[in-house]
Order: sequence, then structure tokens, then C-alpha cells
Amino acid sequence: MSASQASSGSLFMVVAPSGAGKSTLVNALLEKEPAIKLSISYTTRAPRPKEQHGREYYFTTVEDFRARRLAGEFLESAEVHGNYYGTSRILIADQMKAGTDVLLEIDWQGAQQVKKQFPHAVGIFILPPSIAALEERLKKRGQDEPHVITRRILAAGGEIAHASEFEYVIINQDFDTALRELCAIVSATRCRFAQQAARNTSLFAQLGIHSNLS
Ligand code: 5GP
Repeated sequence: MSASQASSGSLFMVVAPSGAGKSTLVNALLEKEPAIKLSISYTTRAPRPKEQHGREYYFTTVEDFRARRLAGEFLESAEVHGNYYGTSRILIADQMKAGTDVLLEIDWQGAQQVKKQFPHAVGIFILPPSIAALEERLKKRGQDEPHVITRRILAAGGEIAHASEFEYVIINQDFDTALRELCAIVSATRCRFAQQAARNTSLFAQLGIHSNLS
């Protein structure tokens, strides 16, 4: 499907520096909105203790990742904190074609690449309430080696500088408020003319609403 074709499905990109609470927010959103499909990325990062192949990520080697990238298998890919990450083009295309809402948890470099191909993709940037809160979350999570945590804290400022490229910003100070805001963005996106027109073709025809969306 080309980016310009009308689809009833929406493409959401949620971006945040490590420790902003992105995954917890996204998981809570997916519990409330099970119709949204989370894209499972490929990564060369080693799995964390509770992570499973095919659930959090498809874990792979640098060689395999590079071969897939060369073969054009990725919709976007980037190096983040010394590891490769990429979104499967075919998985996204299939879901978009079926009219499914898809959510990508990616970094700002990936979001820029996706936006070029899907200009209507909705970018949401999650900010921590402070750098101190971000550091505290990363340390409390206790899932990464100390040098990995330090690297991620140092990278946070550079990532946050890209917040202005996103349509929406959520400050994750109070979890319930942040989740409510995320749900509101999803609802508003589903009410966009293009999505409503694609989802309700016969009603729109009956009501004589014409659009020049192809
Ligand atoms: P983590 O290693 O903590 O799971 O993820 C590190 C960073 O990589 C996060 O910012 C995460 O959103 C990003 N990331 C995860 N999957 C992808 C992907 O498929 N593409 C890109 N560009 N970034 C990703």
C-alpha cells in the first residue's frame, strides 16, 4: 500500500528517552485498546532477563540484521545506544492494509524515516518530568548494566532535543494523567476525516459526503 492510499488504520509512533516510562504507558494503552497492534522490532541488543524472542523483540545477530537491511526488509532502522533496531516493512504493510491501528515504539531517527513514507503517521513524544526522574527510573528498573544506564542518561538530552518534531508531547509526571492523554490522542486520531471516511464508506456515500482521498 502506498502512503497516500486511504486506510482506516492509523499509524502511531511513540518515542521517548530511556526511562521516561514509555513501555509501561504503551502496555497500559494496549490493555485498554486491544485493537491496536504493537509492532515487534528486530534488534541486535541482548535480551533482558524477562524478555522473550517474538514478544518484546525479534533478537538477532549483527550479520543477520545487516543482511535484512540490505534486502530492504525494514521500513526504518537505526543504531541506538550501540545496537541496531528495525521495523519490519512487511508486518506493517499487512496490518495497515487490513485497516488495523499499528503502534511503533521507536526512536526519533526511525520516526523521521517513517514520517517520510507515511506523512499521516502520528508522532507522540513522552517526556520525563525531570532528568532526575529519568535517572531514578533507569536505576530502579535494574535491568541494565551500570555502564548501559550511564550511556542512556547521557543520550537523553540529545533525544529530548527532537521533541519539537512531534505532533504530540506527553509529560509523564502522573501516570494516570499521561495514560488518559495517550488514549485521547488515539481517539482524536480515529476521528480524523480520512480515517472516518475509510471506516464508514457506505454511511459517507449515503450522506453524500465526497472526498478526494484515493
Ligand atoms: P530498548 O533497548 O530500551 O528496548 O530500546 C532502546 C531504544 O530503541 C528505545 O528508544 C526504543 O524505542 C528504540 N527502538 C526500539 N525498537 C526500535 C525500532 O524498531 N526502530 C528504531 N528506530 N528504534 C527502536
